[in-house]
Amino acid sequence: MRNEKEKILIIGSGLAGLSAALECALRSKECVLVSSAPAQRAQSVMAEGGINAALDTKGESDSPKEHFQDTMKAGCFLADGEAVRGMTEAAPGIVKSLKDMGVCFNLDKNGDPDLRNFGGQKKKRTAFAKSDTGKQIMTALTDEVRKYEASGMVTRLMNHSFETLTFTTPDRQICAGCLIRDDYTGEILSFKSSAVIIATGGMHGLFGNTTGSKLNTGEAAAELYRLGAEITNPEFIQYHPTTVSSGGKRMLISEAARGEGGRLFAMKETEKWYFMEEKYPELGNLMPRDITAREIWNVQKNFPVFLDMTHLPDDIMEKKLSGIVEDCITYLNLDLRKDPVPVEPGIHYFMGGLNADRQHMTNIQGLFAAGECCGLYHGANRLGGNSLLGAIYGGRVAGENACKYSEESTFASGSAHIYDDLPGKCVISDADRELLQRTLGKCMGVVRNEKELQAGLEIIRGLEGDLARLGEAMCSAALERRESRGAHFREDHPDIREEFCKNTVLRR
Ligand SMILES: Cc1cc2nc3c(=O)[nH]c(=O)nc-3n(C[C@H](O)[C@H](O)[C@H](O)COP(=O)(O)OP(=O)(O)OC[C@H]3O[C@@H](n4cnc5c(N)ncnc54)[C@H](O)[C@@H]3O)c2cc1C
Repeated sequence: MRNEKEKILIIGSGLAGLSAALECALRSKECVLVSSAPAQRAQSVMAEGGINAALDTKGESDSPKEHFQDTMKAGCFLADGEAVRGMTEAAPGIVKSLKDMGVCFNLDKNGDPDLRNFGGQKKKRTAFAKSDTGKQIMTALTDEVRKYEASGMVTRLMNHSFETLTFTTPDRQICAGCLIRDDYTGEILSFKSSAVIIATGGMHGLFGNTTGSKLNTGEAAAELYRLGAEITNPEFIQYHPTTVSSGGKRMLISEAARGEGGRLFAMKETEKWYFMEEKYPELGNLMPRDITAREIWNVQKNFPVFLDMTHLPDDIMEKKLSGIVEDCITYLNLDLRKDPVPVEPGIHYFMGGLNADRQHMTNIQGLFAAGECCGLYHGANRLGGNSLLGAIYGGRVAGENACKYSEESTFASGSAHIYDDLPGKCVISDADRELLQRTLGKCMGVVRNEKELQAGLEIIRGLEGDLARLGEAMCSAALERRESRGAHFREDHPDIREEFCKNTVLRR
């Protein structure tokens, strides 16, 4: 029996979730879009710097092929090449469609989206909307989704959280829907569907002190890991080179600042030392994030590091970086037009996550993953500007394949069960969460070693709760990878090793 009436369940309403919902609606498939907070509060709104696409409007002969090559190289050849090829080829069309939707990109003199330099890429290919790229794109996509809400194709459930997955059979191989918790009343709702798309963002809750959103606790991924979903490459965590501590979190000074000409220097007594420009004459301040973060981390042991934008022309500060300037005045009481800002590396992005194939399906049949919660496009290190792209493109691909899967599924006549004979679902206590975050913060730093990872692992093994098990997976993966590759740097194994040119996959 074909399953045409079934609704696809999408968990998370950031760029990946919204993009998946739009794809379902365009395919005339109804969906339910569930999120722990309204879309306007998703982390995607915070993105400042831009979205990558080889539009080739700057006379530099850029191409999707070069975008593909830069992405694979930055990721140290761990990303899925075919998936990355699909993403980079689709990128120009995605940016054009966003412009048509009304995203207010900064435009060049020909009316095309203006492009800026971003780290690890020699060509200008990052389209941006002042310092509000994420907000602009989210506003446009939310608006598009609303049109389908009006026609009943999309049902939105805000302030509802993912509780657990249901299955068709006790072996937990095939997804049958999920349980959702109403965050205000505590009521548990059961939704039956053969296709569920997880788009719950990165595992920022494992650390707390990151540039990311506190909404992205990592709890959905932890619960799915408990139930048998595979996690890939959790050891690859992107430290953004330029962050500032602010209110228990890290405030980002976007790469856009360096893309527009901002310079890093260390204060060597009274002398400014432009260490990145000296060591890397070709890309200088725009080396990939892993390298820049490590250089700052090393230099900082002896000298404070600053980002200097005081030499940038007023029109660049006003037209391209105004949001960064305003944020620094508001939250740091510092005017970037007059003073350099002290910076240090901070946790920003998770390259790893739920393991999915090119159709974005996980090892649980019918369970799809897209966006930052899914490790597919970035390998060992992500290029700035590629995650907005990966979230939009991945959401589309997941939506398309979830629709196809649902239509072919015969599950409509089946029933959904919790089938949970595993060690009990356990919510981590506040004290254990704090210890987990502190421990991971210490052993999963910019530079790692066996002694600290081993000590961290022992502490984490003593903690109860599903989030601790996810942290344990992350720590074990970092311990097992006895090499240095991309964002994972081991001071006791400083070289890249051919035998480790493979993805980590963990199943609980
Ligand atoms: C400060 C900052 C600046 C950035 N700038 C850029 C940039 O310029 N360019 C770029 O490419 N990338 C940038 N990034 C990264 C990029 O923003 C994210 O990777 C991307 O937006 C992730 O989109 P997403 O849809 O996967 O997740 P998110 O936008 O994080 O959305 C996650 C959704 O899941 C929901 N959710 C979470 N847990 C649950 C749960 N248990 N149950 C139900 N719902 C849940 C949340 O409410 C939310 O709706 C930046 C990130 C930060 C933090």
